[in-house]
Amino acid sequence: MDRVVVVGAGLAGLQTVAALRAQGYAGRLALVGAEPHLPYDRPPLSKALLLGDTDDSTIEADWAAWDVDLRRGVSATGLREGVLETDAGELGWDRLVLATGAVAARPPGTEAALTLRTRDDALALRRRLLPGTRLVIVGAGWIGAEVATAALRVGARVTVVEALGTPHAGALPAEVGMRMLPWWSAADLRLGEAVVSVGPEAVHLRSGAAVAADVVLLGVGARPATAWLRGSPVELTDRGAVAVGGSLRTSMPGVWAVGDAAAWQSPRYGTRMHVEHWDNALRAPAVVATGLLGGDATWDPVPYFWSEQWGRMVQYAGHHPGADRVVWREDAHGWAVCWLAGDRLVAMLTVDRPRDLVQGRRIMQAGGAVDADRLADPALAVTAAAV
Ligand SMILES: Cc1cc2nc3c(=O)[nH]c(=O)nc-3n(C[C@H](O)[C@H](O)[C@H](O)COP(=O)(O)OP(=O)(O)OC[C@H]3O[C@@H](n4cnc5c(N)ncnc54)[C@H](O)[C@@H]3O)c2cc1C
Repeated sequence: MDRVVVVGAGLAGLQTVAALRAQGYAGRLALVGAEPHLPYDRPPLSKALLLGDTDDSTIEADWAAWDVDLRRGVSATGLREGVLETDAGELGWDRLVLATGAVAARPPGTEAALTLRTRDDALALRRRLLPGTRLVIVGAGWIGAEVATAALRVGARVTVVEALGTPHAGALPAEVGMRMLPWWSAADLRLGEAVVSVGPEAVHLRSGAAVAADVVLLGVGARPATAWLRGSPVELTDRGAVAVGGSLRTSMPGVWAVGDAAAWQSPRYGTRMHVEHWDNALRAPAVVATGLLGGDATWDPVPYFWSEQWGRMVQYAGHHPGADRVVWREDAHGWAVCWLAGDRLVAMLTVDRPRDLVQGRRIMQAGGAVDADRLADPALAVTAAAV
């Protein structure tokens, strides 16, 4: 194998390079990334970096030892057998890994609003957040909650406009979103209000009302950065993610995909999974490296993510859509919601209960069988509910 090319120099791309070298690949290796920066972590962009607690989230990397042909500021524009087309010319490949992540969604009519996906986005938003700034956030999801938390801390006045009826309605059932509703009281949260357009000084709502704004941030989700693959032999899902099997291979021979850009077929959940979480981008690349080097490995994890919002640590593991029952755990320290399918724990969301989350995740990895009554007792460790 002469040359491996990894496209996308975010966490998943960097981890792929690291895993290939760690697993003994000694051939030529190129990493092509659209951004001018070295690979960096995105979670701090809506937390410490936005607050000014840090300016930099560059990921540690041993570039010299890895001997990587790193091409920064270069965008892939097309793919055909053995050739990656870029805005800086063509690059030959024998094996290729797609790790182009996602871009912030931007509905029509919202061009005047900021988005938060890159380090440059975060620094631009931070510069605009001053005491008294009227910030309007469109979307009461994870990004909305984290940015609202940071903005209030720097003294901005925050309005959040959400089309649906509860916070996190895209990700969580209404009963869980309702539990979180009181957290949002420090902001002016307007639920059930759809945004039709964003002007230079106001957000215009479907109801005809306008909300005055100095800064508008869109937090309405992300979409896979795969538009450049349309017309290539790589199969995409309806949502535009790269469709991969359990070994993270794409439909095009010699091509793998990983991280936010990829959606894998999961035997564990019996469905195609597309998660846009840091843990997925961190750990899945080792599976790609093994397969690419001729080994046998599959990716079928219990997905995990966390969010720091309103002074709380929210963590989630699993996949709840197939659940038929909900069990709550609560005491003075925090609360947790556990989703069961029959007698199996299939997902868990915890608020300031990190130990519950770790233990619940371990149970799910082992198959998930639990005693629901013991699980509901917050005085017992979650592990005590495993059967
Ligand atoms: C503000 C923010 C906060 C987050 N907080 C959390 C959190 O608290 N917890 C959590 O679990 N997850 C969080 N995430 C999600 C997590 O950061 C992502 O899951 C992770 O970054 C995915 O890594 P990736 O390498 O797949 O994609 P990305 O990080 O998106 O990296 C992909 C890279 O590919 C480049 N690229 C795209 N198209 C091309 C092209 N055509 N050619 C070349 N390069 C290209 C991009 O410029 C980018 O640098 C957060 C994300 C954001 C944006």
